[in-house]
Amino acid sequence: MTYPTQPTASHFINGRYVEDDGGAPIDVIYPATGAVIGRVHSATPAIIDQALNAARDAQGTWAALSGTERGRILRRAADIMRERNHDLSVLETYDTGKPYQETSVADATSGADALEYFGGMAATLTGEHIQLGEDWVYTRREPLGVCVGIGAWNYPTQIASWKGAPALACGNTMVFKPSETTPLCALKVAEILYEAGVPAGVYNVIQGLGDVGAALVSDARVDKVSLTGSVPTGRKVYAAAAAGIKHVTMELGGKSPLIVFDDADVENAVSGAILGNFYSSGQVCSNGTRVFVQKGIKDAFLDRLAQRLADAVIGDPQDPATSFGPMVSERQLGIVEGYIAKGQSEGARLVYGGKRLEREGFFIEPTVFADVTDDMSIAREEIFGPVMAVLDFEDEAEVLARANDTEFGLAAGVFTRDLTRAHRVAAGFQAGTCFINSYNDAPVEAPFGGSKLSGVGRENSKAAIEHYSQLKSVYVRMGDLEAPF
Ligand code: NDP
Repeated sequence: MTYPTQPTASHFINGRYVEDDGGAPIDVIYPATGAVIGRVHSATPAIIDQALNAARDAQGTWAALSGTERGRILRRAADIMRERNHDLSVLETYDTGKPYQETSVADATSGADALEYFGGMAATLTGEHIQLGEDWVYTRREPLGVCVGIGAWNYPTQIASWKGAPALACGNTMVFKPSETTPLCALKVAEILYEAGVPAGVYNVIQGLGDVGAALVSDARVDKVSLTGSVPTGRKVYAAAAAGIKHVTMELGGKSPLIVFDDADVENAVSGAILGNFYSSGQVCSNGTRVFVQKGIKDAFLDRLAQRLADAVIGDPQDPATSFGPMVSERQLGIVEGYIAKGQSEGARLVYGGKRLEREGFFIEPTVFADVTDDMSIAREEIFGPVMAVLDFEDEAEVLARANDTEFGLAAGVFTRDLTRAHRVAAGFQAGTCFINSYNDAPVEAPFGGSKLSGVGRENSKAAIEHYSQLKSVYVRMGDLEAPF
């Protein structure tokens, strides 16, 4: 490898790096050049066993600490993550290809926010007291046990932290499997947690493809599974978890609407559309890729959008001036090119971009289609790349019905200066995460997740605690107990 922050082995188990080169090799490819910059090995059955046993063995001791003690360690990890933000951002950029301009403000920083927030919350997790005459019930908020986290490749540090922080705050342990496309960053999360004082075995990372994920999900030692991934993978993981009646959180894909009414501030609406389509080269699950623009503002919106896109700095993602990087992989690039071809053949009007760049790496231009109709593939299917579909609309009732006419329900946004309309439309959206005059904000304080096919459960916020803990009721009788015989 060619950079200083590299993890030293494939897996992190029981407080140390572990290698087993009997596992299938997984090359780490830098998306900006296509060069192989590292290699890890997929977990063998012995490695999977080791990780699950470590998590199982460590869980009781970790849960026995007070919330204050667990929280202090998580907050220390947050501080270390922030101190190392530069190195972690460089690594995230090598792992994903996302520009350093983004990774330095959106990845380790977001992971640190989760560790700090749930670290702060750990001491506040309590049950309640329920008086029943002279008898009473008290509830205990208890951990679930061993949690498995499975990540997508777009936000490897963030996903590893968003799942780990609430799980550990509640007294669970975790085995995390990153996407095989981006195996490096989660190892650094494990390393930092251990350095901060998380006991050995509490947070483990193992590598592998879907088969390793599937082995983890179906293992009897596992109590909960949290997946960030596509809907087809979600179906498989949910079904496998159901066989063992395990708790699940599913953060899945989307095809979210972004509605721009003609009274909107054009500049802000264009900013929202850029953030909701081209940040991370469009590889964001909550992106607002169906941009419904009211007819009165359409020309101004498209003109300003094209001007702003011309300012995108496409190039070496490690250069802080670069604002638009490559796709994560050759495969993902091919998927995006396929959708651009479909957009053209199905009759959409290409108004910006559309071409692969003639340079090494997996770069494709930010792309905008106008005159898109609801039935086109680019308006119905998740592309997971920098392809914006602009659709026309006439009025509020029509656009809301069309916005909701999708099997997904992850996110939705509306731009308007009309306050009552903004809230009415937000209330009408069938989506878990909505934005008014903004797009893609994901503060740790707010619940994040989807409805319909986009998911089950919520990450971040107090809501996440419900998904990483369970209540036990204890009935206490103060007097004698009567029985029928
Ligand atoms: P995938 O669904 O292909 O993979 C997600 C993870 O699941 C990977 O680690 C993958 O391993 C693993 N996996 C694959 N098959 C199985 C299986 N049978 N059992 C257990 N684990 C399995 O998603 P991508 O990595 O391609 O990520 C893109 C998708 O993620 C998009 O649909 C996007 O919308 C969604 N996403 C959702 C987010 C949300 O919060 N709602 C956020 C970010 C992305 P491997 O890839 O190594 O084979």
